[in-house]
Formats: sequence, structure tokens, C-alpha cells
Amino acid sequence: MDDKCGRCTNTKCCTYITEALGVAPRAKSDFEHLLWQVSHQGVEIYKDEDGWFLIFQGRCEHIQPNGSCGIYDERPQICRDYENDWCEFDATAEEGFELYFRNYAELLSYCKKRFKTWGR
Ligand code: SF4
Ligand code: SF4
Repeated sequence: MDDKCGRCTNTKCCTYITEALGVAPRAKSDFEHLLWQVSHQGVEIYKDEDGWFLIFQGRCEHIQPNGSCGIYDERPQICRDYENDWCEFDATAEEGFELYFRNYAELLSYCKKRFKTWGR
């Protein structure tokens, strides 16, 4: 494990969570549901090689002022599994996204291109 966490000031990896969409959206109704979700502050959607995901932006309450973890010895397993060999200190996660929707307008624009009959 590289010691770069000690040099990483914004602790980006602890400032959001993601949740996989069980099934890739296909129908108009799927995208209408996503439009509702992405309309909420802090909620975003992306697609990468592993599928579609929701992102919930929000700093973990355990981040300490110096960027360390306040519950390090009891931190969740997903935090233990996270390797910093190649992490957001090196490149932002967004660089690996095939699609990225940060708000209603961005997803609506995609829906209008994907469905010729959107809104009719
Ligand atoms: S894993 Fe990467 S992004 Fe997270 S604190 Fe360490 S260096 Fe920063
Ligand atoms: S529990 Fe600790 S390691 Fe896990 S996200 Fe929160 S601050 Fe980061």
C-alpha cells in the first residue's frame, strides 16, 4: 500500500457512495424513474464497463479534519478492500465513465436522443 493517502488532501474516495442498478435501464419508464432520482441534490448516474450505477455524493461522517478515518480499526469491509494502488489520487473515476448524468437536464438530453418519440 502506497503512503499517498497521507498526502491526499481531499480524501475523494470517502466522499460518495455508489449503488448498482440491478438491471440496465431500457424502457422509457426506466428512464423516467431515473429522471426523478437524478433530480435530487447529490444524486448522479453513470454507466461504465460494469453497468449502470447511482452515485450519492456526500462526505463520510468519519473523515477527520486531517483526512484520516475516525473509525479506522472498525471501518467497513468495503473500505478495507479498497486499494490505493490506482485510485482517485491518480485519476478521477469519471474518466472511466461511458455515460455520466449529474442532473435532470443532462439525462433528459440523453433520453431525447435515445428515444426518438420521447415526450410524444
Ligand atoms: S485511497 Fe486514494 S483517494 Fe482515497 S485517501 Fe487514499 S490516496 Fe486519497
Ligand atoms: S469509514 Fe473511514 S475509510 Fe470508510 S468511507 Fe468513512 S472515512 Fe472513509
